[in-house]
Amino acid sequence: MMVRTRSNNDGRECPICMDAVRFGAETNCGHLYCSACILQVWDQNVNTVTCISCPCCRQEVTLLLCCFTAAESSDSRSAEVLNEREHLKDRLQRYNTLHSNVKYSYLRHMKELPTILRHAWAETFTWGGLTWLFKLRIVLMMLAGLLYLLVPFDLIPEAFLGVIGLVDDVMVICFFLVQVSVLFRSHVTAEG
Ligand SMILES: [Zn+2]
Ligand SMILES: [Zn+2]
Repeated sequence: MMVRTRSNNDGRECPICMDAVRFGAETNCGHLYCSACILQVWDQNVNTVTCISCPCCRQEVTLLLCCFTAAESSDSRSAEVLNEREHLKDRLQRYNTLHSNVKYSYLRHMKELPTILRHAWAETFTWGGLTWLFKLRIVLMMLAGLLYLLVPFDLIPEAFLGVIGLVDDVMVICFFLVQVSVLFRSHVTAEG
């Protein structure tokens, strides 16, 4: 399970316990909670198989992305903290795996791109987290999108149609970004 670290003391408050976020978890809709708090919402769900809805925006939560601070990730002072951290990571992973079969439309992918790409970006360009092979796939996907923008060949050339000529570029970029998001999602929801 990967852990995206966020800067310490960024002052984010958990909307559930109204305290500073502890062992943060970010939802696919971009809301940050303490892992324990959002997992408790899951516990209170009558049916553990259906997704919970985000307490902030009522959107379906399909992903809980680990968002611990660097200090939380490296804290090894007591076995108690260590156990708690591993336990929370296991449960977040379980949630993601359980809900990995949710069908995603292209539009829904687009809507959640900012959150997913933020995590994909952080995981790809920092040490640890993703395997190098996985990072390579994400970087190649981003490069492919960029390449299409840069090479003169276009499905709809800008020179003839002006702004409309840009539409295909935007669509191609979006297509590749969604592919990055699909790739990242498959990694987060993979078992074990
Ligand atoms: Zn909380
Ligand atoms: Zn939300």
